[in-house]
Amino acid sequence: MTETKTINGKAIYSTKGAAREYGRIGCNFYVGCPHGCTYCYLKRGAPSKQLGGNVVRLKRAFRNEEHALEVFRREVEKHIGQCRRDGIFFSFSTDPLIKETRDLTIAAARYCIEHEIPVWVLTKDANFIDACEFHKLVAYTWAAMRLHLLHVGFTLTWRSDLEPNASHNADRVLAMHDLYGLGVQTFASIEPVINWPSARIAIRESRDVCKHYMIGLRSGVKKDYYDAAKSVEAVTGILGDLSSYRCTVYFKESLRRHLAAAMDHDDYQALLSRAVDQDGTPSWAEAFAYTQRCARAAAASAQDLSDVAKRFRGD
Ligand code: SF4
Repeated sequence: MTETKTINGKAIYSTKGAAREYGRIGCNFYVGCPHGCTYCYLKRGAPSKQLGGNVVRLKRAFRNEEHALEVFRREVEKHIGQCRRDGIFFSFSTDPLIKETRDLTIAAARYCIEHEIPVWVLTKDANFIDACEFHKLVAYTWAAMRLHLLHVGFTLTWRSDLEPNASHNADRVLAMHDLYGLGVQTFASIEPVINWPSARIAIRESRDVCKHYMIGLRSGVKKDYYDAAKSVEAVTGILGDLSSYRCTVYFKESLRRHLAAAMDHDDYQALLSRAVDQDGTPSWAEAFAYTQRCARAAAASAQDLSDVAKRFRGD
């Protein structure tokens, strides 16, 4: 069994907190992002000094792109077992598929696929879909019969007005159609949920071509930003919208906490049992526990009915 070690490299590292829900190993080559999202987490709090800014630049740890790739290969090789098991997520400090970052991301992804390491790339830019290097990566992955390792996803908020320099959400979904057609594993990050109607549109528009959804709430907002009853109604509606589609849904911890506080325990467990855990495994434990509770409740009601019948008969 592969041992889990904390990775603290210049390129790859063990993630923490909310980032860990996207991937246990992250890779950051660059800092800064030009999309200008008004809700950007890179522009708030302590990490903003190291990560923030609209201008993309290679991290100071690297001399140039070739050096960055060399360091990446060395670090991956050192932790190859863990990387094969957990995959590598690009990226938490910029958009990894914009024109400034895409070549290095694709070269690193190719190295991963060659070494049977799952790759997850999340973007808000739809333009890479026409890039020659990206098609070469897909062609290689296809020829090596490793398409199951290549995951490419889009953040979908359906609020392009808050993401002024990113591709329009509708263009992201169009690109997702292309990826799906190519056999790439598609996913969508519905995070942050700006409001539930927009999140539901994003899901409905992409559900034909999206294999996995991750849904998370906005951080750093007031406690009452989300109305609890509306959240429960929306999440129930989303699961209904997806019920006849072959995709999985993961509720991020921010959403799980919000729902758990708003719902009766059994109802919450029932809702959760329709989602998957971080590794994409159905929440069978919760589902099983729920079934057991239902069986116990049914047995208790049967006992109650039998008691009523006895009383009625005067036994
Ligand atoms: S795409 Fe992500 S990193 Fe870039 S500005 Fe938007 S929220 Fe920030």
